Amino acid sequence: MTGPESLSLGQRVRHLFELMKGYELLGAREHPSDFNQIRAEYINTRIRLLALLFSILTPLWIPVDYLILPEETFLDIVLARLVFSASLLALWVRASYVHSLYKARRRLVVLMVMPAFFHLSTQFILGEHLNNDYLASYTFLPILIIAIHCVFPLTLKEGVLLAFFTIVALSMDELVKRQLFSLTSLNNMWLLGVIMSIAIWAQLSQLHMQLKLFEQATTDALTGLLNRRSFMSQVETELSRSERYNRPLTMALFDLDFFKQVNDVYGHQAGDKVLVYFSELLREELRATDIIGRFGGEEFIVALPETPLSEAEQVINRVLQSCRDTVVEFDGREIHFTSSAGLGEVLVDVQSSMKLVDGALYEAKDRGRDQVALASGTARA
Ligand code: GH3
Ligand code: MG
Ligand code: MG
Repeated sequence: MTGPESLSLGQRVRHLFELMKGYELLGAREHPSDFNQIRAEYINTRIRLLALLFSILTPLWIPVDYLILPEETFLDIVLARLVFSASLLALWVRASYVHSLYKARRRLVVLMVMPAFFHLSTQFILGEHLNNDYLASYTFLPILIIAIHCVFPLTLKEGVLLAFFTIVALSMDELVKRQLFSLTSLNNMWLLGVIMSIAIWAQLSQLHMQLKLFEQATTDALTGLLNRRSFMSQVETELSRSERYNRPLTMALFDLDFFKQVNDVYGHQAGDKVLVYFSELLREELRATDIIGRFGGEEFIVALPETPLSEAEQVINRVLQSCRDTVVEFDGREIHFTSSAGLGEVLVDVQSSMKLVDGALYEAKDRGRDQVALASGTARA
């Protein structure tokens, strides 16, 4: 038997982890840096909103405190509320901007640990009064804190770590009183654990959805390569890096030759298959640090960081040779294809460099296709 029911528990867990790794839900290391920045901003916005909301709501409860609390504890609770509210307000002010996921994560821990400490202080102040039924609202905060975890798109690692910090902070008074393993305490922990698991599930679902949307917005559905917009934005970033370190950045535009004929003779599906083969061929021939995009139709574009023109020309010629050598089989028929390319350096700004490379591509077509031409203004090294 090979079905999932024949797997041992260990294998199932490993299988689940493999799946999560595939979906990049486990950790953020594999996420594109653009995505990390977007997620950091998203998390930060929510942190600010929650901080502001709770800093307003917390003192609003003071009249209720006045009505239901014994006199000797009222002032202490008011003080705790004001300190908590002011700290949240400070977080709201400080978190006005975020430049990294790391910062967003740190603020998230602060956002969760602060109310946990506020809760502890109310427990400490109210002491034995808490046994009164009408004070039950003061014991409800931990559940609210954990429920708030749901609103953040987090990886499994981040979610578990944050849950750990929150639960440790919430159990601090049991830890201090050495009652961690009492029945009431275990019961509470169990309840918090269950709600936290659901919160982590919600975090993963949000992250999954965001990753999917990001992928759809930045890549081409047929080939999985970058689309024009995200290619351009990555090259812009690469250009500023190459200028800063004075390193060459080259760019090549490919256009498959007589592609209309491929569609006309073999059909559109066959044409699609050729496009997929070509994209795979680019991935194989280029380095992992090279940027590859589908520019539209049967046009593809690549940017080669830290590659001088002479070296880039060799790379492009290797790609063109690989096209000549590739045979695409479709419906029992063999399809051969070639490509032309324009090549140039990316200087000063991407748009104008692109125009030069596009001009070179036309020249390669004019000269008879299946070859690479250098953009005018870029010297042959
Ligand atoms: P040239 O050598 O001058 O580039 O000739 P060409 O036939 O490749 O150029 P042309 O611009 O006339 O035709 C491009 C063709 O690419 C036409 C269009 O049907 C086809 N095409 C564009 N996008 C796709 C696609 O996603 N799938 C398929 N199968 N064909 C596509
Ligand atoms: Mg074309
Ligand atoms: Mg073409």
